[in-house]
Amino acid sequence: MYRSHNCGELRSSDITKEVTLSGWVQVSREFGGLTFVDLRDRYGITQLVFNMEDNEALCTQARSLGREFVIKIVGTVRERSNKNPNRPTGDIEIEVSALEILNPSKVPPFTIEEESDGGDELRMQYRYLDLRRGPLQRNIKFRSKLALETRKYLDSQDFIEVETPFLIKSTPEGARDFVVPSRMNEGQFYALPQSPQTFKQILMVGGIDKYFQIVKCFRDEDLRADRQPEFTQIDCEMSYITRDQILATFEGLTVHLFKELKGIELAPFPHMSYDEALERYGSDKPDLRFDMEFIYLNEQMQGHGFNVFDGAETVVGIVAKGIADSYSNKDMKGLTEWMQRPQIGAKGLVYVKYQGDGSIKSTVGKFYSDDVLSTIGTQIGAEKGDVLFVLSGEEEKTRKQLNELRLEMGRRLDLIKEGDFKPLWVIDFPLLEWDEVSERFHAMHHPFTSPKKEDVERMLTGDHATMKALRADAYDLVINGSEIGGGSIRIHDRELQQRNFDLLGFTKEEAQAQFGFLMDAFEYGAPPHGGIAFGFDRLAAVLNGQSSIRDFIAFPKNNQGRDMMIDAPSPIDEEQLKELSISLNIQE
Ligand code: ASP
Repeated sequence: MYRSHNCGELRSSDITKEVTLSGWVQVSREFGGLTFVDLRDRYGITQLVFNMEDNEALCTQARSLGREFVIKIVGTVRERSNKNPNRPTGDIEIEVSALEILNPSKVPPFTIEEESDGGDELRMQYRYLDLRRGPLQRNIKFRSKLALETRKYLDSQDFIEVETPFLIKSTPEGARDFVVPSRMNEGQFYALPQSPQTFKQILMVGGIDKYFQIVKCFRDEDLRADRQPEFTQIDCEMSYITRDQILATFEGLTVHLFKELKGIELAPFPHMSYDEALERYGSDKPDLRFDMEFIYLNEQMQGHGFNVFDGAETVVGIVAKGIADSYSNKDMKGLTEWMQRPQIGAKGLVYVKYQGDGSIKSTVGKFYSDDVLSTIGTQIGAEKGDVLFVLSGEEEKTRKQLNELRLEMGRRLDLIKEGDFKPLWVIDFPLLEWDEVSERFHAMHHPFTSPKKEDVERMLTGDHATMKALRADAYDLVINGSEIGGGSIRIHDRELQQRNFDLLGFTKEEAQAQFGFLMDAFEYGAPPHGGIAFGFDRLAAVLNGQSSIRDFIAFPKNNQGRDMMIDAPSPIDEEQLKELSISLNIQE
């Protein structure tokens, strides 16, 4: 037997018991004739003690143990003289009578503690060591529980879990496909699903009615810290359903998960249209944990001789509270430069300081008298001590830039309370986006999304300008500025789906070749349907107030899409290439 107990469970009530424990050596310390070893497993850490006077051979053996050795011990639980209140097992220790080394360990390349000294790449290369650390142990366990609670809730709502295939044809979600060559079909390729979108719709035609799956999706896109080429979704679809019923069902799921996993009761989620979100926050995923709403200033600030504003489509600002006196010229210069970085690309940053002593200081004082600025201050509710920041330019771009400034000021002013969660449904997205470069429409959500009922007729018959104004029956769940999920009511008739493909620039033949199966299915009694998918990794991170999804994935990839541990992707043999009828033509 390797263990009678685990390393996290012994307490004072176990004193005098003889126990067997197995685990990893976290640290060992010598203290006079005593040797203390912290023994760790998934459940916790228990202190072992060896006494040179009692058993010299055993104590000498204990002194030879290195970090991460795997050992088994037999011993007696006793009260600890020097208790550790920070550890659940901190009242006891084990007086060891037998020690067996099950497996020695090389010195690990980084410390296996709550905080590690290893860099990201190194920890990914030795993921099995990183996984032993407390934070990852907790995250992986959390993830398992999250999946379990998701299944419980969806089961209670009559959903059926169905697996859909991985070797398929392209399902466009706006990224590139990963492709897999087929040996048996020379020169042909499968695509890995960017999502199970078309299959779940086919399941609705197949009468499954309520489907879900916790499923891997694959998207070949440029990676950021919160993106992975393969990631997991909670994917769902329902038949005979309205948008509001879908939102209610998945609000229910979210509420259930927050309650079961974090003990947090979420208030009902507000709904906000895409247009309103952009107007008020400059983002379709606004962080509602703090206010700082946009204030439009065209009326107040144009016509005063300041050319930059006068010629701008939009003049818009935000008020940052209480920093007028503490932000020096140098701070302001730093902030302006931050806004001018290519990632944001603002030309400049105008500010008006409503200083504590009642005076006003502004970068545009030449054009606006104190009286004018003071009137503006009153109109927008700026008080002594506040700063009004103003940007101007083309509407869409300016709003985006101001969104960045808003988020940055939220962080700098500590407006975001830890443990605060502000979910929101963003609804009524545009159906199509016009891309100036390719001179094409793109589906804002995906090509299977239905326009809103009142827009169907216009979509079938309208001109180019009409298409830009079409609204989709699409929605996103946003929590604390992160997009947690999105979905839509789908098109379920052939004519409308065909029209959508036309608008997206598919020829009839292309649409038929790629999605004929779906449009064919629509002709055999497809019920009205809709659905949604949540980003599972992202949800796990957000529930824990963290931004990186990597820490919630057992084996993540780095920013180049590489698995550092197994060193993939990698070249394959000549033989294998031949079998697949693939010849490489790589130019150095
Ligand atoms: N397939 C969509 C996605 O992956 C979600 C949905 O529309 O249900 O984003």
